[in-house]
Amino acid sequence: MPMPYSALSHLDCPRCGAGYDADRVQGTCSCGSPLLAHYDLRQVASQASPQAIAGRPADLWRYHELLPVRRAARVVSLGEGMTPLLPMPTIGRELGVPNLLMKDEGLLPTGTFKARGAAVGVSRAGELGVAAIAMPTNGNAGAAWSVYAARARMASLIVMPAAAPQITRAECAAAGAELYLVDGTIGDAGELVAEILQQRPGYQNTGTLREPYRIEGKKTMGLEIAEQLGWRMPDVIVYPTGGGVGIIGIYKALGELLELGWVSGDLPRLVAVQADGCAPIVKAFQAGAIESEPWPDPKTVAFGLTVPKALGDFLILEALYATGGTAVTVTDEALLADQRAVARLEGTVICPEGAACFAAVRQLRASGWLSESDEAVVLNTGTGLIYPQTIAPQAAQLHGMGD
Ligand SMILES: [Zn+2]
Repeated sequence: MPMPYSALSHLDCPRCGAGYDADRVQGTCSCGSPLLAHYDLRQVASQASPQAIAGRPADLWRYHELLPVRRAARVVSLGEGMTPLLPMPTIGRELGVPNLLMKDEGLLPTGTFKARGAAVGVSRAGELGVAAIAMPTNGNAGAAWSVYAARARMASLIVMPAAAPQITRAECAAAGAELYLVDGTIGDAGELVAEILQQRPGYQNTGTLREPYRIEGKKTMGLEIAEQLGWRMPDVIVYPTGGGVGIIGIYKALGELLELGWVSGDLPRLVAVQADGCAPIVKAFQAGAIESEPWPDPKTVAFGLTVPKALGDFLILEALYATGGTAVTVTDEALLADQRAVARLEGTVICPEGAACFAAVRQLRASGWLSESDEAVVLNTGTGLIYPQTIAPQAAQLHGMGD
């Protein structure tokens, strides 16, 4: 018998424990919680190993046993995954954390980490017979899902705040998405999607954690970090948190690797970084709460962080509490300053959300939460090139002698 491409076994609800069939199209649990995918890890261990994975192509599908797509032929790919884990020695020394590393997601298709969730989510949706997807977005996820949907010959309907980065709008339109803007937040966009979908049979809602497989794509960030460190864990992972799928995914991935015995030791302390203009997770963490309250009037230049209430907030908080992690806010001023510092000192123009993580490291080192010996991995979730308005160039206009 040929080896199965995926060891996906079932879905379950992390809130009420209800089980769901993974081979039918599923949304959220009847209790309202997101659903999580589970794998037969004995099956995974019997057919894969760190040594075997080392010889596979350098994309996220190298972890296919731990991903939900059952047939290799159903994979929809634009070459996503295995982004560099870059040492950041110069800014690291300046921040007092010399063992600072940056996972640079700016090199992915569409220029952001959203490509991971879109690649896996669209592939699995197509495999299950979904012909059209619909979602609210702060821009980058919409762009990523639009292009992967186009590649899969699937229709897409995208609703985003009018204030979302302009380029993401253009990308959705170029990929043939049906695109709508709302004068409001991603939460308002989500309500509109739910309303539209009542008239659109056959469309699946692929908004953040509204289906179980985007997180499986995001999980590969954690798998890659472990593999790139030689199958071991860093001390700390610092993550810019909007909807929080990435931090939940990394936590899930490292848990699966521990269970497989492919890594050992303690889980890294996870840090959720938010902007002070939208910090529902930080507020909940500081109160020791297990859920967040909707944030009124969210506002930050790091647009991906303007998520007033994340559907998976309880999972984010659980990951922070379970790993001895923390949650911090940074100001727009601080993150913009560090966006420039990283470009100047390390030669890479990162997105404002990624820059927020450097500002957070600065703060956590100053408070003593991070020590000089900590090996910390910062997630840069996208290229700064998508956010040209965050960097105002100062250049003098020269005139030739003939003028
Ligand atoms: Zn449930």
